[in-house]
Formats: sequence, C-alpha cells, structure tokens
Amino acid sequence: MKKKFPIILIVSLLVLVIISAPLFIFMVILQDFQVKEFQEVREIAYNSVYKENQGNVCFGNKFKCVKVNPEVKGNVDVTKIGEYKITYTYKYKNKTLVKEQTIKVKDNEAPVISGLEETYKVCPNNKSTNFTATAIDDYDGDISSLISQRIEDNKIVFTVKDSSGNMTEIKKNVDFLDTEEPSITLSGSNTSYVKLNGTYKELGATAQDNCDGDISSKIEISGSVDTSKAGEYIITYKVNDSEGNTKTITRKVYVYSQNNYVTPTGKSIYLTFDDGPGPYTGKLLDVLKKYNVPATFFVTNQGLTKGYDSMILRAYQEGHTIGLHTYTHNYSIYQNAETYFNDLYQIQDKVKRITGETSMIIRFPGGSSNTISKNYDNGSKIMSELTKAVEARGFRYFDWNVSSGDAGETTSTAQVVKNITSSLGNGSTYVVLQHDIKGFSVNAVEEVIIYALARGYTFRALTMDSPTMHHGINN
Ligand code: ZN
Repeated sequence: MKKKFPIILIVSLLVLVIISAPLFIFMVILQDFQVKEFQEVREIAYNSVYKENQGNVCFGNKFKCVKVNPEVKGNVDVTKIGEYKITYTYKYKNKTLVKEQTIKVKDNEAPVISGLEETYKVCPNNKSTNFTATAIDDYDGDISSLISQRIEDNKIVFTVKDSSGNMTEIKKNVDFLDTEEPSITLSGSNTSYVKLNGTYKELGATAQDNCDGDISSKIEISGSVDTSKAGEYIITYKVNDSEGNTKTITRKVYVYSQNNYVTPTGKSIYLTFDDGPGPYTGKLLDVLKKYNVPATFFVTNQGLTKGYDSMILRAYQEGHTIGLHTYTHNYSIYQNAETYFNDLYQIQDKVKRITGETSMIIRFPGGSSNTISKNYDNGSKIMSELTKAVEARGFRYFDWNVSSGDAGETTSTAQVVKNITSSLGNGSTYVVLQHDIKGFSVNAVEEVIIYALARGYTFRALTMDSPTMHHGINN
C-alpha cells in the first residue's frame, strides 16, 4: 500500500496539469483586447456638435475584462465638409491596440430656392427661360448661378444642386405668352438739326425684342424732311414683334434758317441785366424810366428772385425786353440738351404767366463761350450743340462785348462805371453785361447813361432782330 501512494499522487498531479493547462492557456495566454461597439466610419451633419465615440474596449476575456480608456488623436472640423481620421490607442500593461475611426462631415441639407413667381410668361416662339431666382445653400452659400431652368410638361422646372449633391427642384406654371413690346434705339440723336437747304441724312434705328431678338430689319420708318422749308419735322420709327406687340418712337428734325439781323445805324448800347429780378431791380427801373432808356433783363427763378416777380411785369410794361437766362441758374443744366431745354422752358413758362408773352430771347449762363459746361456734359460739347439747337427752335441767344466786371473782381460802383465807359468806342453795337442783383452795379447805371447819351449813343433793348453778339464756342 505504501508503494502505491506516490503513483496515485503523480497520476493525480498529471491529471490536474492536463486539465488545467487549457484553462491556464485560456486564462493567461489568450487574454486580449475585446472590442465592442466601435464604429470604423461615422457620419455627422455639417455644423452639428461632434461627440467622441470610442466604443467599448476592454482587456481580458469573456469571463473577465478590464475597461481600457484610449489615448485619442485627431480633430474634427464640423464647419468643413470632409473626412477626418481619429486614432484611438488603447494600452494595457505591455499591449497596445490602435483603432482608426473615419468621421465624415456631411452636408445633407438641400439648397433653398426663393424669389419665384407662381406663373411665368415664356416666349411662345423659342420657349427660352432665363428668369431670376435665388438659391441659398446652408454650406455653399449663394448658388443662384447654378440654378437651371427647363420647360417640362408645360411647367417650368427650377433645379439646383449643392456641392454635396443635395438637390432642390421646384415646378411653376407657364403661360406661353409675349406681351412685352420691343425696344427701338435711334442711331444718332433724337433731335437733329439741319440748315435750310442742307441735307438730312437718315441714320436709322435698331430694334430688340425680348422674344425675337434683333428685329431691326422690321423697323418701318415714316415721315420726311423738306430741307427747303424751315420748320419742325417728325420721323416715326415703328416695329412689331412676332406676337404683334408694337413700339413706336420719333425723331424731331429741325430745319433752321439764319435770321436776318437788322443792324441799327449809329452807335447803340444794349444794357443787359442778368440773374434777377431782385431787391435792386425797382431802383434800376426808376433810373431807366428817368432817362427813357430801354434795357434787357435776362431773368431767372433762382433763390434771390423770390418775391420780385412783380418787377418782371413792371419791366415788361415799361418797355424793356424780358429775356430768359434759365430757371435754376444751375450749371448742371448743361448735362445734355434735354436738361437744358427742360430748364429753359420752365423760365419761359414763368415769364409767359407774368407778361403774357412768350420770350424767345435768351442768354446762356456763363455765355455761349463758357467752359464750365465741360464739368457737366460728359465730353459731349454741349455748347456746340445748344448754340445750334436754340436757334433751330427759334430762340435768339445773346452774349456781350462789354463786361462790367460785376460778377468777378469788381465790387465798386466807380469801377463798374469805368469798366463800361472805357469799353465804348465808335462801333455800332455794344452789349453790356451787368447783374441787377448787385446793388453797387445798379448804382453805376445812371452815370453810364449820362456819359453815353452825352456822346451820342442810343440805348436799345434787344429784340429778335437785334444784331447778334456771339462769343466763340469753347466747348
Ligand atoms: Zn447768370
């Protein structure tokens, strides 16, 4: 019995070893990282909040596992679409596990199209669409330029896709209808001037239609210009588009003749007063009346003249000529012929309301030789145009050859007298420029009159037949 004992002991030990070996191997050698709930790829929305998701990683086996917290490397910029790599490094004792996660930041929101109408008019002949619409994408911003438009099943379809491929499509109703009239553009000016017996050259026009495009060849031109007869002529340009919409415009052509000016015999002085009436006009009229001297007033409606309209009537009734200077006396009238004439006709209307007479006698602010108009006319040489245009419309413009200097350096009555009298010679026509809104200048008039009457001059008011006193044109 004693002998058997060690054998049993050895056998049991052996059995124990044989049984526990796999367990031991399982328990000790096969221990490793256990990975659960780890997402290799995650998608998150652009501009959303990014939260780390490291899954559930532990070290051990299915019986026993110790949770392991990783070291995390990598960043996610939620404001930028793209793919980001996050590296998780798990360490347990001497073992290391590296897991990579890809975060896809995505734009899943479709762009928004706005500014659409319920119904669109589309050209019946070409069905082309090019309407304005706005597309805003949460990620790309304004992508209006990417909007495409097409006609499908009698609807207009607006489509836009953002850079992530999110698409928005909106359908609206369509009327195949063209009610828009074409447009006509004249070649050359809408007012043209031809000298009597000169040649009128028809420059034609071009026409554009929203549906038909260039329809210049369809323009019908009617009306004619008889250049042997002075007057106003109208040329009419008419065009129809394929849907029967009509556009008509006109061009005015003035055929003008030179006036036969009457040069009076003897030495004549034409006193002219610009920019008024004003507070000194009454006093001036008293002096003129005293010596029975007629003069010319180039009136305006500028601020200083307020309250003195009665002076225009008085001057008119006392035999003076009421000429037109301008309504505003603002040099911006020289932008173009239209701005000039709009202003001129306003002062003409005003004078007519006061006197009952339509004045056709004018003086340009700054004179016809002014260069200040260059600041306003965009290089169009407005004075060259206006000097012809006013005559063509029947006006007579007058400059001057005697300057009193009262608008510039001269500020004394004595100097005004000297400036004027020293300019008078033995010529036949002296047109004197003064301003009746300047008291010191008005005060010089009596002395000038006495001086001139004593030397055989005759004072006259300007009329349509007076000799022109024109400066050279500098613009
Ligand atoms: Zn003036």
